[in-house]
Amino acid sequence: MKIAVVGGGYAGLACIMELRRRLQNATIHLYDPRVRHLKITHLHETLRHPRSRFEVPFDDLASRLDFEHRPAAVDFSDGVASVAGAAFDYDYIAVTTGSQSLPLPRGAEAYTIEDFASGDGRQIVDAFVEDSTRPRVATVVGGGATGVQFAFELQARLRDAGAGTTIQMLDQGSRPVPDQPVEVSDYVRDRLEDCGIEYCPDSRYCDASGYELIVERGHETCQLQSGLTLLCAGARPAPQAFSTDSTGRVDGSDNMFAAGDCATYTTRADDFMTAQVAVRQGKLIATNIDRVSRDVEPLDYSFCELGYVVSLGALDAAGWILSRTQPLTGTPAFAVKGAVEAQYDLFVAGLDTYIV
Ligand SMILES: Cc1cc2nc3c(=O)[nH]c(=O)nc-3n(C[C@H](O)[C@H](O)[C@H](O)COP(=O)(O)OP(=O)(O)OC[C@H]3O[C@@H](n4cnc5c(N)ncnc54)[C@H](O)[C@@H]3O)c2cc1C
Repeated sequence: MKIAVVGGGYAGLACIMELRRRLQNATIHLYDPRVRHLKITHLHETLRHPRSRFEVPFDDLASRLDFEHRPAAVDFSDGVASVAGAAFDYDYIAVTTGSQSLPLPRGAEAYTIEDFASGDGRQIVDAFVEDSTRPRVATVVGGGATGVQFAFELQARLRDAGAGTTIQMLDQGSRPVPDQPVEVSDYVRDRLEDCGIEYCPDSRYCDASGYELIVERGHETCQLQSGLTLLCAGARPAPQAFSTDSTGRVDGSDNMFAAGDCATYTTRADDFMTAQVAVRQGKLIATNIDRVSRDVEPLDYSFCELGYVVSLGALDAAGWILSRTQPLTGTPAFAVKGAVEAQYDLFVAGLDTYIV
């Protein structure tokens, strides 16, 4: 049996591991234009550490898990998968292509998640510190988990560099990390203030020209200076959304399954754009490819999130665990965050402890 896995992120890797466990004789090809698997949940930490710390070469994974890595992007524009115009010839296709930043206007020195995923976060910040001709204000656009995590890392790097700069966080909502319990938002807001990051609620980023940002506040429009802008305003499925039934099979297809950020499941279970969902859906579609290939009824997706913790710099965190009515802040949250990351590191190293 020949199987193509398209995208080697959290869902793709989980899918390959489960496929290999179940189908020892299958030929598996992984398509991903990157040469290394990126643990993107650490991306904000690339303002502190080299990106290589959070990457694992696909070649290493390929020899351990017995698959072939093909460094190419797959095109789905005509509703069928193809590479450089050549159609795919596989028994099953697992699509796990993730997400990309929402498109926003970009002024000078504005960076997206994709820029950090392919560039050097420390260099981006250091260039701002060294260039005194730029406005001495850095801006984080977006008060969700990604924006908050980047803001604390940015603050620490600027502080350590002794840069006389300020940071503003523009958020179109009224509280940071709005998906978290209110207690967590309050904690994050206090910590932002403690660190000198100005949180600006109800501030919608509309446009940019050079170092000037155009921001709507209620009925007013204002211009703000920004010498470095991090665009963290959310993501959308990439290269497109793949709608699936409750088993992960792409609507209208017999042999294509999807998982992770690119997939939209018909389900009552949790289908958020998170790594923990991506890993569970990746494993599920591998299980279902195995079952369908044996004419066995595929399983429904049924995962419920176990918690979500946001890091607030090197030693602090906040979030919830098991129930949203149990907010967690400070050292206990930091310990949980470390345990979650360690579990994924073990998984990539070959030890699967994801029992639910
Ligand atoms: C800074 C940051 C922090 C985060 N923190 C957390 C967290 O603490 N906890 C949590 O649960 N979630 C977190 N998330 C969200 C989490 O990272 C995503 O939900 C998760 O990565 C989704 O996994 P995925 O496999 O769907 O996509 P990804 O991990 O993004 O992988 C997609 C892969 O597909 C490849 N690809 C894309 N297009 C193509 C194509 N056309 N052809 C072939 N390959 C392609 C890409 O190169 C990439 O390797 C965070 C996200 C960010 C940005």
